[in-house]
Amino acid sequence: MIATATAKTYQNYIGGEWADSSSGATGENRNPARPGEILGHFQSSAIADVDRAMDAAHGALDGWRKMSPIARGNILYKASQIVERRADEIGEALTREEGKTLKEGKGETLRASAILRFFAGETAQPVGDRLPSSNPTTFLYTERVPLGVVAAITPWNFPIAIPAWKIAPALAYGNTVVFKPAELTPLTATLLVECLAEAGLPPGVLNLVTGSGRAIGDAIVGHEAVNAITFTGSNEVGKALYRRALDSERGVKVQLEMGGKNPVIVLNDADLDLALTQTINGAMMSSGQKCTATSRAFVQRGVYDEFVDKLIARAGSLRVGDPLAATTDLGPLVSAGQRDSVMDYIGIGRAEGGEMVTGGAPEELGDGYFVKPTIFTGIAPTGRLAQEEIFGPVLAVLPIDDPAEGLALANSVKYGLSASIFTRDIATAFGFIRDIDAGIIHVNSETAGAEPHAPFGGMKASSSFSREQGKTAVDFFTQVKTVYFDWAYKAPLADKEEGAGAPA
Ligand code: ADP
Repeated sequence: MIATATAKTYQNYIGGEWADSSSGATGENRNPARPGEILGHFQSSAIADVDRAMDAAHGALDGWRKMSPIARGNILYKASQIVERRADEIGEALTREEGKTLKEGKGETLRASAILRFFAGETAQPVGDRLPSSNPTTFLYTERVPLGVVAAITPWNFPIAIPAWKIAPALAYGNTVVFKPAELTPLTATLLVECLAEAGLPPGVLNLVTGSGRAIGDAIVGHEAVNAITFTGSNEVGKALYRRALDSERGVKVQLEMGGKNPVIVLNDADLDLALTQTINGAMMSSGQKCTATSRAFVQRGVYDEFVDKLIARAGSLRVGDPLAATTDLGPLVSAGQRDSVMDYIGIGRAEGGEMVTGGAPEELGDGYFVKPTIFTGIAPTGRLAQEEIFGPVLAVLPIDDPAEGLALANSVKYGLSASIFTRDIATAFGFIRDIDAGIIHVNSETAGAEPHAPFGGMKASSSFSREQGKTAVDFFTQVKTVYFDWAYKAPLADKEEGAGAPA
């Protein structure tokens, strides 16, 4: 165990320098599996630190945007290699800080490396289009240019992958970044920034400011240097942030990822063992703390009883405990607050007439923030347990008569991030793909999980319509310039086709 007295104090990274906050205050970062273990002290930043970080990002912008994209990509590629080289160390730090298992912590770290590598490669890809012009001597094309200073505000549940999938494309396309990680996971954030700094980012291109979103969030969002905000977190904060950005009247571009209430539909013809494994994995891994976690299972009546019995047995066989132990399936929830919130939802489920058929608080696991894999039946589709994002290892199972009822219930929530169906019937699967309100759709696989090069994002209240990751990231992190270049120094031809050359 790391003793309190020896826990290190970490700093902000601003303008290429590691520095204390102007507030002089720090906050403790504790291991949620063993809250007595302090992992480090992190800067409780103040508005003056935000100002300094914004100034640094703004100052670095001109040099960075004018650098060759290939040169920017080389730095990102180097960072991906450093993250990969340090994957054991960073993965373990992530596990100690966030509570997911060591396998998940290392896997997420390697995913961050893959994301950096992908966007390094994207810097050598064409961006923009060549278009035909009605004037034969006009070279007409579009170019994609950076937005400017991007604020990346990130949550604790994927403390390295989400920052990587925001920071990597922002930098690849020539933006500079002010990074504000979640209060609960500043260590992983700091390690990622260390890797990017070591890879050779010029000073000011990436700046790290740790601390409370409530204390400095407004200062970041409202700062006059900010051109874009990419946010993943709660619906409430995301929507408030969007409103503030709109009010600024400076044309701040905003990207929001805000959770889900993700359904699986299991039909009578499904491979039941597969559906079972994937439903359990989707609902329970990382203790359900994924935006894409499965939280509702709609099961056709022909297999409902068998499915529920087997789910209970599987859930009960998962080992809850120290996430550093190789035998553990589920670590703790990230914080006491998160554990209390999940336990409140368990109480709400019971109060609304649901039956908790397995799960609840474990008895024997010390003072860590553990919750057992929990399954509810008897929940009304309109009940809070079936409507609200819980962000814990809690699954509501509801019977359905047919695929149409499953689809209607699956769509009956405000969210639309991911969704899954288990069936062998091709027409049913394609009908589901057509009609489900979800940005990420799985057929015969779990709702959670996303490949690092594939677009990620949701419909309805889950996202702000843009997609992260992959080729689509360029849409958010750049803006388009349309260029009409007349290389013959001539006015458009008089006998041009109708409409061509007309002023807009
Ligand atoms: P979660 O429930 O996942 O912690 P939050 O929306 O509370 O989601 O937090 C996500 C991120 O938003 C964190 O980095 C947090 O510090 C930040 N944040 C919280 N409040 C604000 C705010 N008022 N303005 C900007 N960012 C905020």
